[in-house]
Amino acid sequence: MTYPEPQAVFRYFTEICAIPHGSGQTDAIREYCLQTAKHLGVSATADEAGNVILRKPAASGCEQAAPVILQGHLDMVCAKLPDCPKNMQTDGLDLVWDTDFLSAQGTTLGGDDGIAIAMAFALLESQDIPHPPLTVLLTNDEETGMNGASGLAAEQLDAPYLINLDSEEEGIFTVGCAGGLRLALSLPIVREQASGTLVTLTISGLCGGHSGVEIHKPLLNANRMMAELLSAIPSPIRLCSWEGGVRDNVIPTDAVVQFLCTPCMMTDVLDAISAKRNAILTAYPEETNAQLSVDIPVKSTQFALTKESTAALLETLLHLPNGVQTMHPTLQMPETSLNLGVFRLKSDCMEVTALLRSSVNQAKYDLADAIIAITEQADGQVACSGDYPAWEYQPNTLLEQTAIAVYKSLYSKPPILQTIHAGLECGILAAKAPQLQCISIGPDILEIHTPRERLSIPSAKRTWEFLCALLERLATVKA
Ligand SMILES: [Zn+2]
Repeated sequence: MTYPEPQAVFRYFTEICAIPHGSGQTDAIREYCLQTAKHLGVSATADEAGNVILRKPAASGCEQAAPVILQGHLDMVCAKLPDCPKNMQTDGLDLVWDTDFLSAQGTTLGGDDGIAIAMAFALLESQDIPHPPLTVLLTNDEETGMNGASGLAAEQLDAPYLINLDSEEEGIFTVGCAGGLRLALSLPIVREQASGTLVTLTISGLCGGHSGVEIHKPLLNANRMMAELLSAIPSPIRLCSWEGGVRDNVIPTDAVVQFLCTPCMMTDVLDAISAKRNAILTAYPEETNAQLSVDIPVKSTQFALTKESTAALLETLLHLPNGVQTMHPTLQMPETSLNLGVFRLKSDCMEVTALLRSSVNQAKYDLADAIIAITEQADGQVACSGDYPAWEYQPNTLLEQTAIAVYKSLYSKPPILQTIHAGLECGILAAKAPQLQCISIGPDILEIHTPRERLSIPSAKRTWEFLCALLERLATVKA
């Protein structure tokens, strides 16, 4: 096929999309990167953390320049529409090329962060782009805790400059970010054999979105909404199952719950749910596709939670904070937040996975302490993982100044500098290599981490041109 410009970028991007590469399943994409580099005559290694490190000497005439690291991540978030039959662990994506946007049929596109891999290989392949010595660092499993970046050896970061290609808004340079922490809660439950009317309640069609950069938007969390619906039921119920959300870093769009109630209470139960549903949706007018369905109730015997256990669990779940906790005192952005991402009712406990973020490390730990206290009050336990520091902004680095100058020369206007309420690997990498000056850029990618993800083709072209111009300018900066 004929690819849009820049053709090399979209050719590599198409190849990447043909390889399943969700987080935790990066062997194939890693092998592709190593083989492709070998084919291009570029030095290529993979480390124990699953990162790929590729090194290309400076372009001819740029040998004196200080080296530059280009960085992106290997993995993508796999999410699909409920009716999409694709198995994202085994099948490549079905790309949909529109005039302005590239997307994937029924699934996430993985523009986050396939576009970084594609641009890196287009540069490695290029013969006519002036650039400093390049290290391409493609990290493993960024989306599920930045394990690759955490496991990277510091000596791989032997350059003064790092350009991260994992941002999603053209013209915005990200120069700082929030840190994060994952909490896995385990809440005790008591089950017993019980009979009654089995009700299946399904929330679907919520907007969802990125649990960091979209957490301040008026979006419903399917798990929180479900807890509120169930708590509105006036009579005792017995929970049987709860499946809500798919990832801690995605605002949950769906939740399915089954519970038993006494047959004579059915009308009251349905009325209470319906009234609460209307009240919630009135407060969230943006959730225009929200669906709440109740399956035709059936008589059933289940190994269900006791009424007391159900009530205690719902009370604890409602106590858990969710969403933005504090806003930054001067910037119009969240400072501390959390997303109640995944709820799973197991045979012996309720599992809740939450992702906490803050640009203030202590505020993150204070929020964690508050959640731990609520959990321990309910005799539950909390496991913490994936702790990473905030990336604090360092103004006026040479990299920042050069990038601003190049941007102005191309577009006759300054870029916007921002810090974001999401994790970027720059924080982890900069903590390992204090000399490192970092900046994060990328083309416009809309609704990342959702099946509606789409990459702006013209924006990718401009971002590529900007990246090449920046490298050309950095090639004149002596080591
Ligand atoms: Zn990303």
